[in-house]
Amino acid sequence: MSIPKTMQAIVKTREGRGAELREVPVPEPGPGDVLVQVTATSICGSDLHIWQWNSWAQKRIHLPQIMGHELAGRVVEVGRDVRHIQPGAFVSAETHLACGVCYQCRTGRPEICKNLRILGVDTTGVFAEYAVFPATNAILNDERIPPEYASLQEPLGNAIDTVLSEDVSGKSILITGLGPVGLLAVAVAKACGAGLIIASEPNPFRRELALWLGATHVVDPRAENLVEVVNRLTGGNGVEVLAEMSGNPKALADGLRCVTPGGRASVLGLYDGEVMLDLNDLIVLRAVRLYGVTGRKMFSTWYKAQELLANRRLELAPIVTHRFPFERYQEAFELMSDGNCGKILLFPPGH
Ligand code: NAD
Ligand code: ZN
Repeated sequence: MSIPKTMQAIVKTREGRGAELREVPVPEPGPGDVLVQVTATSICGSDLHIWQWNSWAQKRIHLPQIMGHELAGRVVEVGRDVRHIQPGAFVSAETHLACGVCYQCRTGRPEICKNLRILGVDTTGVFAEYAVFPATNAILNDERIPPEYASLQEPLGNAIDTVLSEDVSGKSILITGLGPVGLLAVAVAKACGAGLIIASEPNPFRRELALWLGATHVVDPRAENLVEVVNRLTGGNGVEVLAEMSGNPKALADGLRCVTPGGRASVLGLYDGEVMLDLNDLIVLRAVRLYGVTGRKMFSTWYKAQELLANRRLELAPIVTHRFPFERYQEAFELMSDGNCGKILLFPPGH
């Protein structure tokens, strides 16, 4: 297959809201890289932050920058040092680029590498016809997984790692926040045998999606008292598990209050600034196990995602609410900031 010299890509070209669809050179793989022809991509919350140019993006992003990090595609070329992957392989990407030599990397936790870089944030991204990344970060996909679900594996990994920090089978779980990752968490909890699945979210569209995905109860935290509802549904015990996926301090405090003494709380949400909590009351004296979740486990989470998707144990169809070709990227990002969506897919020309 002949690889063209130029390609279409969604590029953050300047400060402020927005991006541009541009003709740019096809990247060349370095000695340890793969060059992938992209077949499907999906938009993450951090892409939206880059598009909106929030304070995090202003500090972190070097312009111009091809956006995006969630993808599925076919390898078309490998660097000269790559042995384990050949052209033709169906791949996605682990987006945490670890150094391999720091304390965390060498003790088996590369996802929290001290020198962590992120694909599409600190390097050239994947909202393009071709993408380059280290071959060690390429995930070989099971051919039974459709490209659009293969692209979702990266955020799915956030949900898997959060929900499955410990076993959930036969347990009650509260999921606070039903953004794309919270919705994926509902699907994971359901697939992995959770009993009561309570999901809390102000947006009615997202609450409805959660019911489709297997939530047994949904709560509007603005209209109802979450702690009271959870107590009522659990006979006064509270839930065994909290998965905090909103990044909202009140959802975190109320969610912790809903955990039964001796239960577990896994927190993925990222908060604007510091959060005040009554730790004695919420964590210490109730012996709650608290987990912080960063990305996914490298790479055990990916094997779980593959297993669940290849064997159709996860129902992801309701999560994918919109599909757009690259040229309609503006509409896709506006919709994403609006919030009346699940996961949004973006397809390069011809796919
Ligand atoms: P999102 O912003 O799309 O979703 C958050 C949802 O929480 C929204 O639907 C919002 O309406 C809802 N919400 C707001 N206030 C709430 C409340 N009081 N109670 C319940 N729900 C409330 O975000 P996302 O992309 O789904 O990601 C979820 C969170 O996880 C975000 O905070 C994100 O920054 C974070 N995140 C962390 C990691 C990590 O590695 N730790 C990775 C991905 C995302
Ligand atoms: Zn490292």
